[in-house]
Amino acid sequence: MKALVYKGPGQIAWQDVPNPKIQHPTDVIVRIDTTTICGTDLHILKGDVPAVKAGRILGHEGVGTVTEIGSSVSTLAVGDNVIVSCIKSCGHCTFCKQGLFAHCLGEEGAVGIGWVFGHLIDGTQAEFVRVPYAETSVYKVPKGVTNQQGVLLSDILPTGFEIGVQYGQTKPGDVVAVIGAGPVGLAAIMTASLYGASKIISIDMNTDRVEQAKTFGATDGVNARADDWKARVMAMTDGFGVDVAIEAVGVPETFEMATQIVRPGGHVANVGVHGRPVQLRLQELWIHNITISMGLVNTNTTPMLLKLVAQGKLKVDKFVTHHFKLGEMEKAYDTFGRAASTGALKVILERTS
Ligand code: NAD
Ligand code: ZN
Ligand code: ZN
Repeated sequence: MKALVYKGPGQIAWQDVPNPKIQHPTDVIVRIDTTTICGTDLHILKGDVPAVKAGRILGHEGVGTVTEIGSSVSTLAVGDNVIVSCIKSCGHCTFCKQGLFAHCLGEEGAVGIGWVFGHLIDGTQAEFVRVPYAETSVYKVPKGVTNQQGVLLSDILPTGFEIGVQYGQTKPGDVVAVIGAGPVGLAAIMTASLYGASKIISIDMNTDRVEQAKTFGATDGVNARADDWKARVMAMTDGFGVDVAIEAVGVPETFEMATQIVRPGGHVANVGVHGRPVQLRLQELWIHNITISMGLVNTNTTPMLLKLVAQGKLKVDKFVTHHFKLGEMEKAYDTFGRAASTGALKVILERTS
């Protein structure tokens, strides 16, 4: 089969590799029909994720057709159309039982890390993928949901919702600020209204992205590069700050911004993946009764989000800006990697025949 192979920093190739095989009775093989590229894949390409070794097939998002099942798999069958979640879940360990799939102790990839695809085991940017713990790690695509919609539930929608909106303890009437309007920030914006946010302020240094955020549910926008950005945000509140500040970029500057605009008693929900330490002004912040949260997505809300997509309540197609054939993977990486000039949000790659 063909797959996108990581060759070391800055180098990838769509090339021939052996087809994956069932290794454990709980595995299935999925033929990838639809996949996409994540900002995290670009981090890998930059060399920011050293656990990814040369030779690894990348990708942790995908929808496809089950082509083979392991001997102990009884709830999935050949021909099923499934969403492959970016997080593995053995379904049995103490963390899986709590819904903390991000820390699944199953011995695939690494014990205690749920994100294994395109990281510690071969991923979904391929014609076929082996899915471990399949019964608890994939979701059947319900009628009325397209593959394109389904693939947005592999990672970005649960990430913005769980680690941004839910960890931020968003409640009815809250003023929510989301720093970063990439796919993950936009997913937080789209799902913040599920918990009744009264205002959703999008903050990004890219003004086009801020404008785009308004079509995802942002009520207001602020350019992060404006000298008076903070005053503008504060003016959109009662003067004391936002209830929930969601960081969806992953650099020290934006984490600091989140701590500057949160009101006493409010929440800072960090979603971004950070590669550098951040300074926490604890000496000033402690007295404001602020809660700071962070985490790797669990994808435990995928079934719920899937229902909302099926009902047309979450209009996720608007995330998709570009379409490619699966074999055009390198071109798709180029388009996605130059998002500022191409306007790419999610690029969809599809199998042809
Ligand atoms: P992205 O790169 O597509 O978007 C980031 C946005 O931030 C862009 O619109 C950019 O213009 C903006 N930005 C950059 N620097 C800024 C600054 N200084 N001030 C204001 N805006 C700025 O990223 P994405 O795919 O949306 O992902 C966002 C973050 O979430 C990344 O760090 C990604 O690795 C992380 N992530 C976390 C999890 C998790 O489980 N916690 C899962 C998936 C992705
Ligand atoms: Zn991702
Ligand atoms: Zn587990």
